[in-house]
Amino acid sequence: MEATANHTQIVTGWAGKDSSGKVTPHVFKRRENGPEDVTIKVQFCGMCHTDLHYLKNDWGITMYPVVPGHEITGIITKVGLNVTNFKVGDRVGVGCIYASCLNCEFCEASEENYCDQVQFTYNGIFWDGSITYGGYSEMLVANNRYVVRIPESLPLDAAAPLLCAGITVYSPMKHHNMFQAGKKLGVVGLGGLGHVAVKFGKAFGLHVTVISTSPNKEKEAKELLNVDGFIVSTDPKQMQASSRSLDYIIDTVSAKHSLGPILELLKVNGKMVLVGAPDKPVDLPSFPLIFGKRTVSGSMTGGIKETQEMLDVCAKHNIKCDIEIVTPDYINDALSRLARNDVRYRFVIDIASKSRL
Ligand code: NAP
Ligand code: ZN
Repeated sequence: MEATANHTQIVTGWAGKDSSGKVTPHVFKRRENGPEDVTIKVQFCGMCHTDLHYLKNDWGITMYPVVPGHEITGIITKVGLNVTNFKVGDRVGVGCIYASCLNCEFCEASEENYCDQVQFTYNGIFWDGSITYGGYSEMLVANNRYVVRIPESLPLDAAAPLLCAGITVYSPMKHHNMFQAGKKLGVVGLGGLGHVAVKFGKAFGLHVTVISTSPNKEKEAKELLNVDGFIVSTDPKQMQASSRSLDYIIDTVSAKHSLGPILELLKVNGKMVLVGAPDKPVDLPSFPLIFGKRTVSGSMTGGIKETQEMLDVCAKHNIKCDIEIVTPDYINDALSRLARNDVRYRFVIDIASKSRL
């Protein structure tokens, strides 16, 4: 195809080819490194639940073959002629955003995530008509505008999930002024996003309560993540005992559920942000909203400037993700475990391990 004539670089990756939720090795082409681009040797890629949604076509928008991965860290191996802010050897990251119009009010404010032409790092359509392929692959070419620097004190493996899970909870927490010491934060769903929200809450001095369907996560949450409270959401007594106790809630749940009982945990005027993206609509009964004058909103990842800010905040507060590193041949096992909620708290693929074998 003429439009993609410059896609000459052959890359090995792992792609889903149908809705089985599995990947197989996949060889594909990426564009040459353009004047504004950097080429990145991928070292690590986090496995977000979004990857699973796309692989299984949960949202009905998957374009197969799909090469997932938007929690990418690696080393720059090439810079384009016009790139002045990065050099070969730099430790960098790429998250969910791969392209945006660069003209609208959101791009101008570095809120590229809300540009109405935003294209994602995978399953997007780039300006030349090619489908974007993500970080379950050995190499990536990206416009430097969408690349961030990984602070020296953060290891590339434990930092990788910050590129999606981290910024996705940081952005709404900051936007809604939740970083207030002493306030009470509830985190619904203790998975990849949830455990980073807990870490931000603790770093900023909040009282953090996890609201979980998994009683077996309580001990670890208290001992390792230092959470102050743990509510088992399937136990109505525990839920009732904590009625009107929280200032804010972040809901990171990946499956359909009812917001009603969770909203009852908020104080009057309390705010809930929904970042989990189930394939079916969640139930939002009006009574808990009305009787508590509560607010529910949503948020999608974060802009590039804010992603850099978030990484710098993580470096300052020594916030790293709790990860289980896996080799590429374990991706399918990891996807199955992610689907059955068996991960503490993020799988990260050691992509470069393949070339070291
Ligand atoms: P994850 O690691 O699988 O965590 C999700 C958590 O939800 C699980 O650990 C579990 O916590 C809880 N959960 C799972 N099934 C549940 C059910 N049936 N009912 C109630 N709770 C359930 O997933 P993740 O990577 O953190 O992603 C979470 C969601 O956020 C996904 O839908 C993903 O697509 C979405 N997401 C959105 C954005 C955005 O920009 N808004 C960005 C990234 C991801 P407990 O065991 O504690 O109950
Ligand atoms: Zn993600």
